[in-house]
Amino acid sequence: MNINRDTWHRLVPKNATFGLPCPACANGKLKLDTTGVNIVEPKHSIDYRDDQSWEPDNVVERWSARLVCDEAPCGEIVHLIGDIETVEVDIDDGDGQTYWGAREDVLRVRAAFPAPPLFRMSKNVPSRVRRELDLAFRLYWADTSACVARLRTAVEALLDHQKVPTERLIKNGPNKSKMKRMDLYERIKAFTAGAAHEGQLDGLRNIGNLGTHGGEDVNDEDLFDALEVLQFALTGIYDTKSINAKAAKLQSKKAGD
Ligand SMILES: [Zn+2]
Repeated sequence: MNINRDTWHRLVPKNATFGLPCPACANGKLKLDTTGVNIVEPKHSIDYRDDQSWEPDNVVERWSARLVCDEAPCGEIVHLIGDIETVEVDIDDGDGQTYWGAREDVLRVRAAFPAPPLFRMSKNVPSRVRRELDLAFRLYWADTSACVARLRTAVEALLDHQKVPTERLIKNGPNKSKMKRMDLYERIKAFTAGAAHEGQLDGLRNIGNLGTHGGEDVNDEDLFDALEVLQFALTGIYDTKSINAKAAKLQSKKAGD
C-alpha cells in the first residue's frame, strides 16, 4: 500500500486540523485538541525587538499542540512541538490560476511523541524490528538521513530474526581460512538467494544501497520509497502465511455456504 505523502508534511498551516494516523490503534486519526495550538515567544526574542538591528525575521516562536485520537475507545494523546517558519504564499483565484501572495507564518513540526506510524504493520512483525521502526518514525520529524539509517537497522533486525548469518568463511588455499564479517548488502543477497519471495524482498537491497550513497544525499522521496518497499517486504515475509490461510479458507467455501 502506498503511503499518503501529503499527510506527512513537516510544515503545516497554523489552522491545520492535522489527521496523522494514531500510534495506538488500527484506524484512528489524530485531531487537534480543543485547546488548539499554543504559540509563545521567548523573552530573549521579545527583548531583541528593542534593538536597532532588529528585523521581523528575527522573531523566534515556539509552539506545542495536543492531538487526540478520533476513535473514542482509544483516545490516544500525541504531543507535537516545533517552531515557526515564514513561507511564500501562493493564492489560488479559483480558476486554476495562482499568484504570489504575502509571506505567512506556518508551523514546523520538530518532534511528535508518541510517534505516529509512517505505515502500519501487522502483529506478526518481530518486536525488535517494530522497535527500530518506531525510532525511525520518531526521527522522521528531526532528520531524514537518521530516519533512513534507522530503517537500515530495522532491515538488519529483520535479517537477524530470519537467522541470516553475519559472517562467512573465506578460504585462500588448502590451509588458509578466515572469517569475514558480512555487510548489509551481502546479508540481503544471502537472504534473497534462498527465499521463496525473492521479488518481494528484492526492494530491500534498495534501502541498503540508499545508505551507501551517503546520508546527505537522501531526500524525502527516497525515504518514502524505502518505507513503501520495507512495508511491502514485511508483509511478504511475515503475513504471507496468514494471507494464504485466509485465501484457502475462502477457496474452500462453496457457493451457498
Ligand atoms: Zn487511536
